[in-house]
Amino acid sequence: MDAATTPPDGGRDLVVVGGGIIGLAVAWRALVAGLSVTVLDPEPGDGSTHAAAGMLAPATEAEFAEDAALHLHLAGAAHWLSFAADLEGATGVGVGLHASGTLTVAHDPDDAAMLRRVLGLHTRHGVTSRELTVAEARREEPLLGPRISGAAWVPGDHAVDPRAAHRALVRAVTSDPRGALVARSAVHLEQDAGGRVTGVVDDAEHVHAAGAVVVAAGWASGALLAGVRDVAVPTRPVKGQTLRLQTAPELAPQHVIRGLVQGRPVYVVSRPPAEDGPWAGTSELVVGATSEENPDDRLATAGGVFALLRDARALVPSLDEAALVEVTPRARPATPDNLPLVGATAVPGLHLATGHHRNGVLLAPLTADLVVAGLTGTWFDVESAAADPGATLAALHATDPRRFVPPVQDPRTPDGAHG
Ligand SMILES: Cc1cc2nc3c(=O)[nH]c(=O)nc-3n(C[C@H](O)[C@H](O)[C@H](O)COP(=O)(O)OP(=O)(O)OC[C@H]3O[C@@H](n4cnc5c(N)ncnc54)[C@H](O)[C@@H]3O)c2cc1C
Repeated sequence: MDAATTPPDGGRDLVVVGGGIIGLAVAWRALVAGLSVTVLDPEPGDGSTHAAAGMLAPATEAEFAEDAALHLHLAGAAHWLSFAADLEGATGVGVGLHASGTLTVAHDPDDAAMLRRVLGLHTRHGVTSRELTVAEARREEPLLGPRISGAAWVPGDHAVDPRAAHRALVRAVTSDPRGALVARSAVHLEQDAGGRVTGVVDDAEHVHAAGAVVVAAGWASGALLAGVRDVAVPTRPVKGQTLRLQTAPELAPQHVIRGLVQGRPVYVVSRPPAEDGPWAGTSELVVGATSEENPDDRLATAGGVFALLRDARALVPSLDEAALVEVTPRARPATPDNLPLVGATAVPGLHLATGHHRNGVLLAPLTADLVVAGLTGTWFDVESAAADPGATLAALHATDPRRFVPPVQDPRTPDGAHG
């Protein structure tokens, strides 16, 4: 890890609290925009980012009645291709972007009926997907198991390797003379008499003075900001577990496979064979994920691991041959409305980039560009972010970090209502 414990001398344009994929994406884009940046994190990359499978999946993550999330995710996916190319070009570190599409499969007839309803949702929102016969699905992915009742092809849902992307971002930030990654926790924010945020105090009582602060501390963001007036950051941990397996390349699926098995969602993300390291010549498979309203206790559960393996091997039986090398429990940063908090708050100098729940890897490039546009006062080009600029603009507004701040009460009536 390239993080230092000695803070750089002097104030910075920006301090970012949190060095997960969101905080580091913001930091790198801010450096590219010409700002000097310090990132604070005692364990950069060891939060939710460490567990993530890396699906870039606006279509297969789509939920009924969550239109803003769908259009936000579509814009997020549109941002990834150029972000990956720029980051790889700047650092020479591959991010493992695998644009091979997603095959969605249904295990029993009820799962197939649900899959068709989701395809209808895609059609209503102009998202490309296509129902396949089971025979077509098997031609596409010969490793599918014997019990499949339906399938669909989703050409625009891809995957990236979040740990590789994080390594590239660490390199990008730490190799820039105006960037620093400091292995310290933020304890509280500094504010001047007018309430403007002027820096961050870390757990060694060092003050990191800055023109602006971005809080990107995952589910812990809310607690860090609890004492700051005029912000409300209701982030909570939602625990999830992923499994990592290594297998021979011929036993690894060619595409991301997502499925419903008796109503339970499961996925298998396959990466191309590693070129070096202990698993050279084998493919990594990531199986996920549980979703539990539990804190970040970092404990894998027997029931979670059992359920993931049971459902994943129902779709891809060759998993039986793979080596199970890692079980990774971490907590996603969730919000009450399942949308992130992105951009400037009502407190001068304080910006947020948190609450990305199940889609923080997908949304990292878009979040970074939105936050940096707000920091530098530059125009964010919605037109290039997605195919439907109106729906995208509405989705971006829905991430306003001020939306959970209670309205100021009207002192003229006891209950705050206008009489
Ligand atoms: C099981 C699982 C599977 C997932 N799969 C996917 C997927 O396929 N696709 C996708 O898009 N998303 C996925 N996600 C979601 C994704 O991982 C998150 O949305 C994303 O990682 C959030 O990034 P982050 O940087 O905000 O948070 P984190 O990665 O949690 O980073 C927050 C950082 O803040 C630091 N921090 C906390 N408090 C402080 C403090 N006081 N001072 C300094 N630093 C602090 C922590 O050390 C941590 O490094 C998955 C998540 C889980 C758990």
